[in-house]
Amino acid sequence: MKKHLILVGPPGSGKDTHGKILSQKIGIPLISSGEVLRDEIANRTEIGIRFESLINKGLLVSDDVMETFFEKILFKYDLSKGFILNGFPRTVSQAEFINRYLFEHNVCIDCVLNIAVSDDEIIKRLSGRRTCKKCGAVYNIYYYRSKVDSVCDLCGGELYQRDDDREDIVKDRTKIYIKNTFPLIEYYGKKSLLCEINGNGIIDEVSKRIVEAVND
Ligand code: AMP
Repeated sequence: MKKHLILVGPPGSGKDTHGKILSQKIGIPLISSGEVLRDEIANRTEIGIRFESLINKGLLVSDDVMETFFEKILFKYDLSKGFILNGFPRTVSQAEFINRYLFEHNVCIDCVLNIAVSDDEIIKRLSGRRTCKKCGAVYNIYYYRSKVDSVCDLCGGELYQRDDDREDIVKDRTKIYIKNTFPLIEYYGKKSLLCEINGNGIIDEVSKRIVEAVND
């Protein structure tokens, strides 16, 4: 089984959802840069306060800051036992950083899972997403509504739309992805590490495809 994994794919391709499912299924930690940054914002840390407005606009934190920050996060894990990186690397510079970091820790990337989803689907998935303020459960006004509008089925918490999920910001995030992150696909393709996943369809189907790719 492949256990040193990187997830890539445009915003809305399901990296968070599938990262969590895969992490539970194969018992390997999911390390999500976006989630770590959102925690920093929620906890009002220096980095959270500094980058809150940039993150809410869907812009990228600069490579040098992100690499220094993420190195401290990675240090907490025994990467030799396996990892699923989600949201990092996002640029070729970050990919080169991670290569150096893993090399220094005697670990190799087994596979880069590229989740591909159509553009229309992405807009619906992201602009329709609603998240619970209390427990973080995720709903979608097009595909998976809560029983009572704006109220979480699980804990009764209030559902909100992430600032960076607004339709105008989603369009910007997609442009940023094409400019900065798309070159990563070519980068990992040349290293023969890329594994293409069809991310269209229901969660169970996509999840099955991912598990098959990891077990391949
Ligand atoms: P995500 O949940 O992965 O979409 O990340 C949310 C936001 O956090 C992004 O839109 C960026 O503002 C920031 N972010 C997350 N990961 C990175 C990264 N590797 N490089 C730069 N910015 C990042």
